[in-house]
Amino acid sequence: MLTPETILKSTFGYDTFKPLQREIIANVQARRDTLVIMPTGGGKSLTYQVPALLFDGLTVVVSPLIALMKDQVEQLRALGVSAVFLNSSLSPEEYQENMDAVKSGRAKLLYVAPETLLTPRIYSLLSSLKLDLLAIDEAHCISEWGHDFRPEYRQLVDVRRKFPSAVCMALTATATPRVREDIKTSLGFTQSNEFLASFNRENLFIEVTPKRDPVAQTLKFLENFKDQSGIIYCFSRKQVDELATTLARYKYSVRPYHAGLEDSERKRNQEAFIRDDAQIIVATIAFGMGINKPNVRFVIHFDLPKSVESYYQEIGRAGRDGLPAHCLLLYSYGDASKIRYFIDQKEEPERSASYQHLDAMTRYAEGSACRRKPLLSYFGETYSQESCGTCDNCGMEESDLTDITVPAQKFLSCVKRSGERFGAAHIVDILLGSENEKIQKYSHHQLSTYGIGKELTKSQWMHVARQLVEKGLLDQEPAYRVLSVTAKGLEMLKSREQIKGQINEAQKKERGARVKSMSSEESEYDKSLFSLLRNKRKELADAAGVPPYVIFSDKTLVQMAAYFPQDKEALLNMSGMGKVKYERYGADFLTIIKSYCRENRIEEKYKAPMRDKDDAGRRYVLVGEAYNAGQGIESLMARYGVSADTILTHLARFIQAGNPLRTAEDLMSLSKLTPDQQQKVFQAFDELGPDMLKPVYEKLNSTVNYDELKILRLCYLCEKR
Ligand code: ADP
Ligand code: ZN
Repeated sequence: MLTPETILKSTFGYDTFKPLQREIIANVQARRDTLVIMPTGGGKSLTYQVPALLFDGLTVVVSPLIALMKDQVEQLRALGVSAVFLNSSLSPEEYQENMDAVKSGRAKLLYVAPETLLTPRIYSLLSSLKLDLLAIDEAHCISEWGHDFRPEYRQLVDVRRKFPSAVCMALTATATPRVREDIKTSLGFTQSNEFLASFNRENLFIEVTPKRDPVAQTLKFLENFKDQSGIIYCFSRKQVDELATTLARYKYSVRPYHAGLEDSERKRNQEAFIRDDAQIIVATIAFGMGINKPNVRFVIHFDLPKSVESYYQEIGRAGRDGLPAHCLLLYSYGDASKIRYFIDQKEEPERSASYQHLDAMTRYAEGSACRRKPLLSYFGETYSQESCGTCDNCGMEESDLTDITVPAQKFLSCVKRSGERFGAAHIVDILLGSENEKIQKYSHHQLSTYGIGKELTKSQWMHVARQLVEKGLLDQEPAYRVLSVTAKGLEMLKSREQIKGQINEAQKKERGARVKSMSSEESEYDKSLFSLLRNKRKELADAAGVPPYVIFSDKTLVQMAAYFPQDKEALLNMSGMGKVKYERYGADFLTIIKSYCRENRIEEKYKAPMRDKDDAGRRYVLVGEAYNAGQGIESLMARYGVSADTILTHLARFIQAGNPLRTAEDLMSLSKLTPDQQQKVFQAFDELGPDMLKPVYEKLNSTVNYDELKILRLCYLCEKR
């Protein structure tokens, strides 16, 4: 029998669903319109591809870019799934062939651009068929508030009206509430069928480092990424060309990409990167849209990005395959000034908006707390762990921090005494007792804080200043970077409370990307075998005229090089090894692995089938069902040996997967609030929606804690069903 689980394993070769995939599929199977919001690499495609294979009829996938369609169709065909696309890149014969495949029912999935879908020819084709699912990829294109509005998307609602029996999915990686609302109203979705995945990308190691000698820093970084694909983003075309030339001189296989190049050259360079013919692409932000390459192992920002949003989007192109990837930002104050100079040329209101974006970006870069906190909070998510272990700031030992109370006091009082009208550089000049013109002009040599900070250097003082801003003791006005002391700062001046921080920048220890996303066996995979397997993959890909990742992902090869499978059964146990891929390529790879093992006297390592281990992944269903069968929260806690919080999380997932819960009474009894307070919380959910707790928490002026909010959210969802 076909189930989502059997299709996942036999067609896609995966053992377990990624977060929310299973719930989304269930929702679509129940023919409820579904909005899916997941970050890049979250696994959106699978959520409509699995239902497509479960439904009898046709699935139409709307996609804005020819390159994306082609890529998806190639990947599906390699899995043995019959998929076609219709667009202007096809010859008349190919077009007809694909039309026939759809008409005859041979094709399960049809990829089209929105404008194609709206033509009479396609309308009449579809009218002669059973259309089961309409999936709208890159659905933010429907919204004028998104970064990529496409008017044709607006007309998709007509398609829906024409084919009312087809269930509709909208998928996007854009999380802003405004865009989400827009998508839902444009397509007529109801509130509850929305699936919002976490935007935390655990496999990305995130690092920001002061930019000193950027070329040398880049070369040093690249030493750890021999033969591995990566993107280097630069601010200007000129910088792209220069850096690409330099890296080529150091014998790196590298191509430039920017809007100043001929179309044909740009295309060639992109293709070379995608097909692993070039290792590195040096690019402006023009590069990336429509790139599906899953094995990008690093992204370097050679220059400062203009906003946190674009930064997140750019680093998001790394590690789509779920394997570890490293994101490095080279940060300098000078870069920020450069961008500020460009912003100055703009008109209002664009100028103010750009300042705000830049300001958020510099605050992020200068931050000393876990990088994931500001990134995720930017998308309205709270990162509740104290430390992620996979960013440069985490794992910073408490002992790396020193007492900076005295310098902090000096700095704050100097800001205060000079009238809160200057930037950090001038304050430092006062502290160091500089005799420059500006000091003279404002008579700052007469201040009591003049020259009291000679124990530190200028760069040490600047670093202290950044930390004070970050700790909220100083406020920095965005346009001219003028500093003022906050209420919290005044408090600190009075109370003389101890402050911990760093005197020197770059006390950060070298830390490699710690690999959360790999098991210990996998992180010790055999590099030489991997390289042999990769060569084979490249050879097969070139022969088939597709990118290497269409044959196998890096993850599949890593597992082969870690477990050394010797026969069919063991090979089928590798992630991404579906039946069809095994039949097509299995023998080739087995031959290589076996001969390598013979020569090097290596034995196969046993890989436990994931499904056995993964009872935990589906535990929410067991918990939900047990609850519905009458078990109370306490008895579930005892049965699974977990906290109430965990049980509540399971139940929330269970509801969000579209299952009803028997009653909210048991849950309500967990809440310690008065009925009056509870009512206030429910009102806040009505107003702000139940997805994110932080806005609700803030709306209630932090009077209700998160534990309570979690309980009441569950009651709320329960009632709504
Ligand atoms: P998105 O469209 O959200 O950016 P994709 O659909 O391209 O993400 O999926 C990202 C990668 O994750 C792809 O290489 C895909 O094959 C892989 N993937 C998707 N679902 C799973 C799963 N359940 N297990 C393992 N890998 C998966
Ligand atoms: Zn962190």
